[in-house]
Amino acid sequence: MLFSARLFCGQLSPDDVGRSVLLAGWVDAFRDHGGLMFVHLRDRSGIVQIVFSPEIAPAEVCQRAAALHAEYCIAVRGEVRKRLAGTENPNIETGSIEVLVTELTVLAESDALPFAVSDKAMVAGAPSTSADNVAEDLRLQYRYLDLRRPSIRDNLILRHRIFQCVREFLDSRGFLEIETPVLTVSTPEGARDYLVPSRVHPRSFYALPQSPQIFKQLLMVGGMERYFQLARCFRDEDLRPNRQPEFTQLDIEASFIDEEFFYELIEELAVKMFAIGGIALRRPFPRMTYAEAIETTGTDRPDLRFGLRLVDVTDVFSQTNYSIFRQILNRGGCIKGINIQGQSGKLSKNVLQNEYAREIVPSFGAKGMTWMRAVDGSLESNIAQFFSRRELDSLRKRFDVADGDVLIMIADPSRAVVTSALGPLRLHLANRLGLVPADSYCPLWVTDFPLFEATEEGGVTSSHHPFTAPNRTDFDPNNREELLKLRSRAYDLVVNGEELGGGSIRINDRQLQRKIFAALGLTEEETRQKFGFFLRAFDFGAPPHGGLALGMDRAVSMILQTPSIREVIAFPKNRSAACPLTGAPSAVSREQLAEVGLLNLGGPDALPGTALKENRLDHLSWVSRIGVAEEERAMIEDVLAQADELALLASQKAGAEQPIYSVAPVVNRTRPGTECQRSERARTGELLAGAPAVKGNYFQVGSILE
Ligand code: ASP
Repeated sequence: MLFSARLFCGQLSPDDVGRSVLLAGWVDAFRDHGGLMFVHLRDRSGIVQIVFSPEIAPAEVCQRAAALHAEYCIAVRGEVRKRLAGTENPNIETGSIEVLVTELTVLAESDALPFAVSDKAMVAGAPSTSADNVAEDLRLQYRYLDLRRPSIRDNLILRHRIFQCVREFLDSRGFLEIETPVLTVSTPEGARDYLVPSRVHPRSFYALPQSPQIFKQLLMVGGMERYFQLARCFRDEDLRPNRQPEFTQLDIEASFIDEEFFYELIEELAVKMFAIGGIALRRPFPRMTYAEAIETTGTDRPDLRFGLRLVDVTDVFSQTNYSIFRQILNRGGCIKGINIQGQSGKLSKNVLQNEYAREIVPSFGAKGMTWMRAVDGSLESNIAQFFSRRELDSLRKRFDVADGDVLIMIADPSRAVVTSALGPLRLHLANRLGLVPADSYCPLWVTDFPLFEATEEGGVTSSHHPFTAPNRTDFDPNNREELLKLRSRAYDLVVNGEELGGGSIRINDRQLQRKIFAALGLTEEETRQKFGFFLRAFDFGAPPHGGLALGMDRAVSMILQTPSIREVIAFPKNRSAACPLTGAPSAVSREQLAEVGLLNLGGPDALPGTALKENRLDHLSWVSRIGVAEEERAMIEDVLAQADELALLASQKAGAEQPIYSVAPVVNRTRPGTECQRSERARTGELLAGAPAVKGNYFQVGSILE
């Protein structure tokens, strides 16, 4: 069969009517009309109906067609014709034509399917099947079948388009696509590393990159000026629904730039990427400082698709007689709230008191809340009588209250408790009340993050990573209070409450970088050990630079509006970070562990066959590196026994001499003529102490030495 003549099913059109075509693909669905057989033939481009008619196709072809089943892989030859009026199928793009088959080749048969692949009904108006409700682990176990489903296929095609768009755009802006190592040392992004043991360096490990951060900065020191990479990153973090242990990020770094360069570049790129999903983003994206984001939305990932902004009313109650508020304010606390406009119909006293005050708000970490409903020009609540006229009037003004509005306020001695409870409460209310508009996309930049966060141990840790430039350089690295006040030159891109990416302007001054490590509590020795090679690069004229990374799985999932990022990854891990298809992560054999020196990290290990009662055959097999199958054992044992007999005979003939183990005298081949000295450690066996695996007097060595 000459596939070079093959055409794509989905690309046939009424223009092809009368044409003889060769098609190849899979049987998506079929209908047998007593002799007349209709098949949906599917390839990557789409579906076309093919018809086996006893009037056109040879009897033998019709016979074989009758034996076709779902997902058989076939090739057919036939003629394109227009469908009879009334039999068109709007479910498929080629629904106005069909192909009358004259030849059929079955390329490969298929077993019965674990779930339906087909999701295009063969007849107009008929319901389609869908695997969307199939257990996800089953779909992932047979991912290659799942990938044949048009919806997943389309996701991967569009993912490819988005990646191509990124490449073309960045290339047009002078960026070079450069790969960085995957087997490397730890990169500090705040997660745990995935470690890979080295066989040739026993007990040493590579780390998989949490990001290419260190290398992209070294590329800037290396004068590459503009770099990007669609990089695979690995982070060993706790399981969360939309998180994958390995993910793809668009990693970017550039020299001689400032923040504005990235705002401009990424906004332009994001507009192009989202347009592939038919989504128009408006530029310029608004900007919000971290402090403003926390104060008005209770999070550093604000969802701006709806209002419900947080309003501070602490000052309104500065003279209050309401004892709960007074006590909280006396302890330096704050009071903030939300006006839920026009929703008093949906938020009854009962819902506010019994659901929100008793259950929902405490689940967000606050001790309680106060509610008020605006009815007939006044504010009513279970505690309204404790507030003065002036306080109630000020509240109305501050929240711009109209009849039908509902106020919810939270007071606490800790400002952080107030904002971190109001943040999720704001989202909860928006979802419950249907205030989140569909098909709306609100990107923004969040800036001026704190450079450091406090640790429980009384120190500080980087909010982003330790290479982020601070807003000031004249700080004292030992003054924790001062450190916690520093802002960073970092920026995050947030869309609809999700962080799509982030980055920063970096430190390019070696003294400042050392100062940051000192602030993080690293001694000079620790700094040298962990980042010595990196800091050394900054001794050679490092240019000012900065960059950022966008999470591509998340971005593509948002652009294609899929329910999870797993729908846009060809072979994702499931929710518990496992792969139902391959069974990864999986156990490895003792031999593999021994090979990488991991059988027993505490000292030399016993290899199989070293058991106390040593088996001579296993021992020989290990020393000679020749595997012995179970059924060969008896025969080899026989040969060994005969060899023993021969050796015994030979030794009896030669008299009572001991068998010889070493026939060559020990010589020093490095310095000929020098007398040979045996190490004392060889005699005591200590020489083998560091060997990865030891067996008797042998130890395992790299094969080059063998
Ligand atoms: N390396 C950072 C990250 O992966 C991004 C950046 O700062 O460029 O989050």
